[in-house]
Amino acid sequence: MKNISFWERNWLTDYDYVVIGGGIVGSFTALKIASENKNAKVALIERGILPLGASTKNAGFACFGSISEIEENRKEMSDDNLLSLLELRIRGLEKLQNDLGDKNISYSNCSGYELFFDNNRLEQRICEINELLNPLMDENCFSMSNKDIKRFDFAKEIVVGLAKNKYEGSINPGKMIFSLKKKLGSLGVDCYFSTEVESFEETSKRIFLKLKSRNQSINITTNKLAICTNAFAKKWFDVEDISPGRGIILMTNDLPELKVNSCFHYNEGYYYFRNVGRKLLIGGGREIDKNKETTFSFGINKTIRQKLINDIQTFIIPNMDFNIECEWSGIMGFGKIKLPLIKKVSENISLGVRLGGMGISIGSIIGEKTANLILNK
Ligand SMILES: Cc1cc2nc3c(=O)[nH]c(=O)nc-3n(C[C@H](O)[C@H](O)[C@H](O)COP(=O)(O)OP(=O)(O)OC[C@H]3O[C@@H](n4cnc5c(N)ncnc54)[C@H](O)[C@@H]3O)c2cc1C
Repeated sequence: MKNISFWERNWLTDYDYVVIGGGIVGSFTALKIASENKNAKVALIERGILPLGASTKNAGFACFGSISEIEENRKEMSDDNLLSLLELRIRGLEKLQNDLGDKNISYSNCSGYELFFDNNRLEQRICEINELLNPLMDENCFSMSNKDIKRFDFAKEIVVGLAKNKYEGSINPGKMIFSLKKKLGSLGVDCYFSTEVESFEETSKRIFLKLKSRNQSINITTNKLAICTNAFAKKWFDVEDISPGRGIILMTNDLPELKVNSCFHYNEGYYYFRNVGRKLLIGGGREIDKNKETTFSFGINKTIRQKLINDIQTFIIPNMDFNIECEWSGIMGFGKIKLPLIKKVSENISLGVRLGGMGISIGSIIGEKTANLILNK
């Protein structure tokens, strides 16, 4: 550590708590720690100028699962475990709204719809999922909505069934992180952006972290450390069941005639689209090239991009000309099971990672749980 002054060493580099990762989980972890320890020195460290993972790269669906996705989940886990997971998503979304305020995340209760390409037993499938969700909901959440196929202007010879989820909504993920940053600032959390934690080492007394920012490299110390780097935690915890998954998003130009004005899914949640004002946003498709998409690198997979464009043209807005104005990718963290990984890796270090494809719905609660581990609550 070169050229660090006496003042810096004593005042600027020793912390009570450090959180690594400036996404939704790291931000909620730091928020909980700082709001319960007003006099503690807390730092949040993020390697990107903007968060460089998934929290500001996602589609902004405030969702907890579609009919075909829940059916697929049901094949992989017991109904009890599935209900616990769905409850986590529902409570997480409530916490996100309550803690940040609907206006500050541009929450819209726009409802969600799933497109079906055959009508086989659809009514019955909807009833079965409503029945499953009964313990969590006062009223049926899903309903048949075939009459809306025309309203949204889908190709009616291809899209033959539509199921509505009246509790689904959307948010603006950029505003969400902006609000979290403001809250962290008001609680006195030191937020270091463009700063990568290269390594850390735990001794019997303190945890030492090596930070790198441009051509500056410094060490800081902390009593407690929370690691909220989602897929990127694999770098330090190779034995843990965490693997990266890239997702891409395309956004069209303004389409004055666009009838799509809610959130939509198809094919077990692998594909999703929504409007953002008069633009159409579409994402997903990882399943057609899963090997290539199991990567820590950002980038656009041409095969998936083409598939998304074909779907827009063939059945989403078949009669409209459009351009792709904007496209990006983000990296998610997956495991063999659909649950996040929240655990203590030592007395003073905790992990809150592996958020999967619905991290916006559970991120607030996972942040709180990670903070509770650190705070020994
Ligand atoms: C294309 C796409 C669409 C999605 N759509 C939705 C959706 O509509 N609804 C939904 O609920 N979920 C969605 N998700 C999933 C959701 O965005 C993620 O599950 C969630 O954002 C994960 O949050 P996180 O805080 O755990 O991780 P991240 O947001 O990835 O945050 C981790 C942070 O750690 C930082 N970091 C990593 N290593 C270091 C280091 N060594 N030093 C410092 N910082 C480091 C990274 O830069 C990153 O910012 C989508 C994801 C993608 C990619």
